[in-house]
Amino acid sequence: MSKSAIYPGSFDPFTLGHLDIVQRALKIFDKIYIAIGENRSKTNLFTPKERKLQIEEIFQDNPAITVVIFDDLLVDFARQVNVFTVIRGLRAVSDFEYEFLMASTNRAMEQEIESVFFMTSDRYSFLSSSIVKEVASKNTSYLSHFVTPNVEKALCGKFRLM
Ligand code: ADP
Repeated sequence: MSKSAIYPGSFDPFTLGHLDIVQRALKIFDKIYIAIGENRSKTNLFTPKERKLQIEEIFQDNPAITVVIFDDLLVDFARQVNVFTVIRGLRAVSDFEYEFLMASTNRAMEQEIESVFFMTSDRYSFLSSSIVKEVASKNTSYLSHFVTPNVEKALCGKFRLM
């Protein structure tokens, strides 16, 4: 039986930390929907469409990955695609409280939903999209430590530093 899951996030931009989580999850799931949602409490650099194209480029050779944009609640999107397993990444204890809250809220709305957490590699445990944006706004020389080459290029373009 094929096992599918949804990996939701803002991915603004998609980092090597996100990639690490997807690679781990692919050991368990046959199909993953990377679902780009708007986190309204965060300021975005890239439009959802730009992010979708960037992530699609990263996984262009992997048919197990489908990239989608969703504007509804995650539970509504889960019902739409009939996939009720949600992947999230955990970096540090500080992620736990928010993730616990989100997982509990989703389950309160849809009992079928199960959240699965993957721990990132140590080397990405500090990495966040916000940090990447902060670094990129000042100096783009270090971006290859944090993002894939296509995202690096897009960041350079946004900050007009290349
Ligand atoms: P959101 O706004 O939904 O938190 P993010 O794009 O910031 O979206 O993160 C999506 C998911 O990926 C979250 O579960 C987050 O904890 C996880 N994540 C982000 N960065 C990393 C990283 N460096 N290592 C592991 N997981 C990460």
